[in-house]
Amino acid sequence: MSSAQHIARTGQFRTRIVEVAALSPRMRRIVVRDPAIAAQTWPLACDIAVVLTGEDGREVRRRYTVRAAQGDTLQLDAVLHGHGPGSSWAGGAVVGDEVVFFGPRGVIEPPAAGRLLALTDESGLPAIAALAEAAERPVRVLAEIADPAETYPLPANAEVSWLPRNQVAAGGTEVLSAALAALHRAEPIGDGFSQAYVLVESRAAVVLREELGSLGLGRDRVYAKGYWNLNSRSGR
Ligand SMILES: Cc1cc2nc3c(=O)[nH]c(=O)nc-3n(C[C@H](O)[C@H](O)[C@H](O)COP(=O)(O)OP(=O)(O)OC[C@H]3O[C@@H](n4cnc5c(N)ncnc54)[C@H](O)[C@@H]3O)c2cc1C
Repeated sequence: MSSAQHIARTGQFRTRIVEVAALSPRMRRIVVRDPAIAAQTWPLACDIAVVLTGEDGREVRRRYTVRAAQGDTLQLDAVLHGHGPGSSWAGGAVVGDEVVFFGPRGVIEPPAAGRLLALTDESGLPAIAALAEAAERPVRVLAEIADPAETYPLPANAEVSWLPRNQVAAGGTEVLSAALAALHRAEPIGDGFSQAYVLVESRAAVVLREELGSLGLGRDRVYAKGYWNLNSRSGR
């Protein structure tokens, strides 16, 4: 079963921002353009490493999913979570800014058949959207978001439960764990789904993968990836 793969060779791109839009109060869409983009293949839900400047002035890289590649443009959707070079960059991005990045990197692919389940927070929503687009069949999505204003445009085949965490801190598992347990009561996870994707904070990803295992979906049927690190000072 193919659920993900890695791209070994990536190139450097020097692009310009041609569009910035607010998808919600905390999700910013950034479209970058360069002729070299059109000459490259951008596989489904691949990501790029954007080159930024950290607080201490040193170069840092932050990963963002390619939500869509069209001609010489790439569309990125970045969470404004409030701290860090990536969030600051996205919050201050304006048309005309240069954006340097490396890519494409890892790809997420749906298996050929079977029901799919996705557990995600805001940072994984662009990847889940691309995955659902490619799957062309219903994808059950449990999506933790900061509050009810943070819903995100997913394809029509995504059967999504929006799970506002409201006063609960980001990066925990209680919101998604409770939703997973409720889903399991309605339809046993191990029987109902062939593959699950977990795109959340790193330690939460491990916990949720274990919970899926105890509900009958073993490791070989779960793609779990830490999309960010709680209380990381330097990020990844
Ligand atoms: C393959 C891959 C694809 C990704 N695609 C996307 C994408 O399309 N859009 C997107 O927005 N993110 C995406 N991410 C996640 C993004 O790379 C991280 O959130 C990253 O840490 C952001 O960097 P930063 O500089 O803003 O914060 P950092 O400097 O890494 O962290 C600063 C502080 O903010 C906290 N923090 C970091 N990220 C979050 C978050 N999402 N929510 C709450 N607190 C956070 C940290 O715990 C830390 O305390 C992806 C990650 C991976 C691995």
